[in-house]
Amino acid sequence: LFSHLTQAPSDAIFAIMNAYKADTSENKIDLGVGAYRTDEEKPYVFDVVKKIEQEIVNDPSLNKEYLEIEGLPEFNKGCQILLFGKDNPLITSGRIVTAQCLGGTGALRVGFDFVKRHLQGDVYVSNPTWGNHNQILDRVGLNQINYPYYDPITKGFNCKATLDCLSQAKEGSIILLHVCAHNPTGVDPTEDEWLQIADVCKTRNLIPFFDCAYQGFASGCLDKDVFAVRKFAELGFQMIIAYSFSKNMGLYNERVGAIHILTSSQDIATKVLSNLKMVIRTLYSCPPAIGGRIVSRILCNDNYYQQWVQELNVITGRIIKMRSLLKNELDNLNVQGNWDHIIKQTGFFTFTGLTPQQCDQLTQDHHVYLLRSGRMSMAGITSKNVKQLVEAIKIVVQN
Ligand code: PMP
Repeated sequence: LFSHLTQAPSDAIFAIMNAYKADTSENKIDLGVGAYRTDEEKPYVFDVVKKIEQEIVNDPSLNKEYLEIEGLPEFNKGCQILLFGKDNPLITSGRIVTAQCLGGTGALRVGFDFVKRHLQGDVYVSNPTWGNHNQILDRVGLNQINYPYYDPITKGFNCKATLDCLSQAKEGSIILLHVCAHNPTGVDPTEDEWLQIADVCKTRNLIPFFDCAYQGFASGCLDKDVFAVRKFAELGFQMIIAYSFSKNMGLYNERVGAIHILTSSQDIATKVLSNLKMVIRTLYSCPPAIGGRIVSRILCNDNYYQQWVQELNVITGRIIKMRSLLKNELDNLNVQGNWDHIIKQTGFFTFTGLTPQQCDQLTQDHHVYLLRSGRMSMAGITSKNVKQLVEAIKIVVQN
């Protein structure tokens, strides 16, 4: 029955994660997976999350009944405030449709299923983008077109090429944009460049589809990081946003995220929600509760919210510190090349510019695990392993 199947390729990121686990060396370094590690190379569970988990376990008012198809109402409300800002009149206008989803990936899948069924159109994706974007779009059956994004010469954002490409896009196309801390490049448009992108989207009648997986990780300020979403909303765009709490609340395996659809009226929002619920009902019926309860308690309680922001600042602060540490060590050891981009790029990742062969050599000869594209997770660098990492980079770039 199944003999016609051929072996499907393994997911590049999960494959690296497993190769790292299987390596018995004591000096192995994990720069593959986009999950935070402490300076002791340990996974981190937020204290505020642990506290709320206890509260939930001991709360006699909670049960295991199904949630609504669109998830917990207080979760959805909290997510709107976090993304659009507390005093944003859009929230009270009833024009935003929100549903709790299974992580950012689940939100992307729900969002693109909705697009396929109700909007159609080509989807413009940045070159490069997070690999799962391409896979999801492929599965959903939407046509993808690359827009040039990353400039390998400057190791920065190629605004002109992006605008030129989008200005040729067919009206009604969807454009997938990373809100901040672009994965894999760590390169984001400036506020002025976002305005230029908005301009071309308006002129060409393009529909923005934002992916927000790293709020808090780019500038270190939650509000500033979602500038693009708030500005586009202010400019009157109707749009879709897929949101993930995996990184900024460290809830990776709880699978918590949200889909937001900003519509033109409350009446239309009601119809959009009914259709969105049809998509969700046929995919997984309704979301799980625990992760949603944790997030909504953080977002709806001032005390918990402050604790979360403080812990998030420690995490983003450590990543920023590792950027300068790595750059300094590379300079101190006179490693060939210019490494300024390490401190210019933001968020979880650095797009190092190392070739696939150099990355293979780092893994095979030096137990350093990273994507073959040269993407390095900054969260895997520590004050202890940075020297070993830099010595390994020095060897591979000299060869
Ligand atoms: N979008 C981007 C750009 C990501 O990097 C990720 C996580 N790696 C996601 C979405 C999905 O996150 P989640 O783990 O919540 O599914």
